[in-house]
Amino acid sequence: MEARLRQLVSPAVLAMLLPGRPLPLDAQQWSVHDMDRPPPQAVDPGSVERPPSDAIVLFGGKDLSQWQAKRGGPAGWKVEGGYFEVVPGSGDLVSVPGFGDCQLHLEWATPVPARGEGQDRGNSGVFLMGLYEVQILDSYRNRTYADGQAGAVYGQFPPRVNVSRPPGAWQEYDIIFHRPRFDASGRLRRPARMTVFHNGVLVHDGVELTGATAHRARAAYTAHADRLPLVLQDHGHPVRYRNIWVRELPRR
Ligand code: MG
Repeated sequence: MEARLRQLVSPAVLAMLLPGRPLPLDAQQWSVHDMDRPPPQAVDPGSVERPPSDAIVLFGGKDLSQWQAKRGGPAGWKVEGGYFEVVPGSGDLVSVPGFGDCQLHLEWATPVPARGEGQDRGNSGVFLMGLYEVQILDSYRNRTYADGQAGAVYGQFPPRVNVSRPPGAWQEYDIIFHRPRFDASGRLRRPARMTVFHNGVLVHDGVELTGATAHRARAAYTAHADRLPLVLQDHGHPVRYRNIWVRELPRR
């Protein structure tokens, strides 16, 4: 009978039907090429202009309804022709939804003509969970400290390569972020992890962050919520953004 059952049902179901058998571990639940294994959800991959169908769009070209001012009130940055731009002095923006583990796509461009040098040139930044910054900077023929140039996990990891485009050109970040895990007492169990593509080129391969971004100080962790908003930095430069979307990454 067991042989017949084996043909009819998946190993997981079989384990439940045959008493005394332990349920298989999650990783062993399916046999190789098991047709009963649930297929992945179908997702339209989108195109250059269109996000994947399961993405949460944070800026689709029209309005800042998914953003607000970090200091409170509506987002004070200006929207123009399919992009939005930092209004210096108006403060950081925070996303309305919060995120934990996620895939983030974001496009940005630094001002043209370029002004200033080092950190004072096309500076902004995207903070995952409002805490972990991937630097945005005009790093095209502009020398600064390595862990603060475009694509750096600020203050921690320089990008593997500098794939910056010139000022004014649209650039892309694709970031895979896993939030840190804390135990019930607030102690760090697992650090945050980031993989980053800059203009399609891998610049961080699952780096483990040493803590929340700090300026001129060693990063450290403080326990926080599982989901927190993204933050875009007003560093006083009119950096532009467009096409921002997030896919949440639930544990499988
Ligand atoms: Mg910055």
